[in-house]
Amino acid sequence: MSRDIHAMSAAQLAAALRAKEFSAQEVARHFLARIQRSTLGAFLAVDEEATLSQARAADALLAAGDAPPLAGVPIAHKDIFVTRDWPTTAGSRMLEGYRSPFESTVTRLFQEAGMVCLGKLSCDEFAMGSSNENCAFGPVKNPWDTSRVPGGSSGGSAAAVAARLAPAATGTDTGGSIRQPSSFCGITGIKPTYGRASRYGMVAFASSLDQAGPLARSAEDCALLLSAMCAPDPLHDSTSLDLPPEDFSRSLGGSIKGLRIGLPREFFGEGMESGVRAALDGALDALRALGAITVDISLPSAALAVAVYYIIAPAEASSNLSRYDGVKFGRRASRYADLQEMYERTRAEGFGAEVKRRIMTGTYVLSHGYYDAYYLQAQKVRRQIADDFQRAFAQCDVIAGPATPTAAWPLGAHESNPLADYMADIYTLPASLAGLPAMSTPAGFDAAGLPVGLQLIGNYLQEAGLLQAAHQLQGATDWHTKAPANI
Ligand code: GLN
Repeated sequence: MSRDIHAMSAAQLAAALRAKEFSAQEVARHFLARIQRSTLGAFLAVDEEATLSQARAADALLAAGDAPPLAGVPIAHKDIFVTRDWPTTAGSRMLEGYRSPFESTVTRLFQEAGMVCLGKLSCDEFAMGSSNENCAFGPVKNPWDTSRVPGGSSGGSAAAVAARLAPAATGTDTGGSIRQPSSFCGITGIKPTYGRASRYGMVAFASSLDQAGPLARSAEDCALLLSAMCAPDPLHDSTSLDLPPEDFSRSLGGSIKGLRIGLPREFFGEGMESGVRAALDGALDALRALGAITVDISLPSAALAVAVYYIIAPAEASSNLSRYDGVKFGRRASRYADLQEMYERTRAEGFGAEVKRRIMTGTYVLSHGYYDAYYLQAQKVRRQIADDFQRAFAQCDVIAGPATPTAAWPLGAHESNPLADYMADIYTLPASLAGLPAMSTPAGFDAAGLPVGLQLIGNYLQEAGLLQAAHQLQGATDWHTKAPANI
């Protein structure tokens, strides 16, 4: 039986644990052994004793009888969530060796749900990137083709789930970092409405955009995970929404006959690889066969999303990252003559090139004389993008399109051209800027056998509807069940 543990979905594992087919400790040991053998680089921190102590607690919960639904199921966390029992680096030398004195709300909620943490997952430094290559501790390989990137910034999360090193993972999405790696690794990931999940204890990148969400193998698993991680957190995150707990699994089984799916003309123009286009057409056909109706819509300002995001996100980052001064936490340069030099050396040594680039851009667009021309203007266009979506949702229930213009690119391909990374975010950024829920669900493979994701965007708080559409699609297709070879 233990041979099959990693082949099971989170929902299947939860049921088997409840039926006492195996214990949480057996499951944890099985995944820890796989993680140890893996050469993908997905994990930054593993601590067997910490994992097994959570597994023992889960076994006690399961033995007592009324355990929560996900009790004993393993999960691994993007190294952006601070955890007491594992170090947190946010993929940066700046936080090397940092140990948080408190637990993030999201990881705490999963622990309270009885889930067992397998360790911390690699990510781009401070979640800035689209390929995981900005991680200071080395890149992660895409399990479908180890010469390619897994996507980013939640690249470790997506690679770990695709390679069956964990049945579930957390990620964060500021401009696409859950959807894009999910698409590149052939798994399912959802970014809920901004404010659904607490940002407390998530290392901050761009606070008006950062949002946590789950990555897993199916929409069914994502629904279970999302239900466990969303809760108001008024004491710690003033932007967390004051909503009662929601069961995102409740409508998974409902038919999508008559569902109006909007296809933005701006998402289906030039720039999309032909293999991505062909896969999307197949997924849209499958949705139509289930009774959904596709309608043409327009998001006229969406094309400006890259320009707007790469002003607003660096602006917020430059402010958020000012806390790394060598005094409060993390790294401090070892040699310096005075306070000013201590700041300078600490930041010069601690931050990588992309982070420095963002801090400089952000400081520039916020500076006197440029603020109106860049930052303020970007905020106005951000509003237009959000308004476009509201007009579109008068004509449709859900919006569909590509998650990314291409499948996963080779490691190193964008090394000398950060703009290529930025441009690849074109389809994920509009929903991020509007704060809307959005997900990626497998849509098949391109001619090279690389996974392609279908992006679904919903109106505010419509996560359950998105997951329902994805679940129905997954019931009619088998793309999400495929695993990379040799894992
Ligand atoms: N690729 C985008 C960036 O580099 C998005 C990252 C994210 O969502 N965290 O900013």
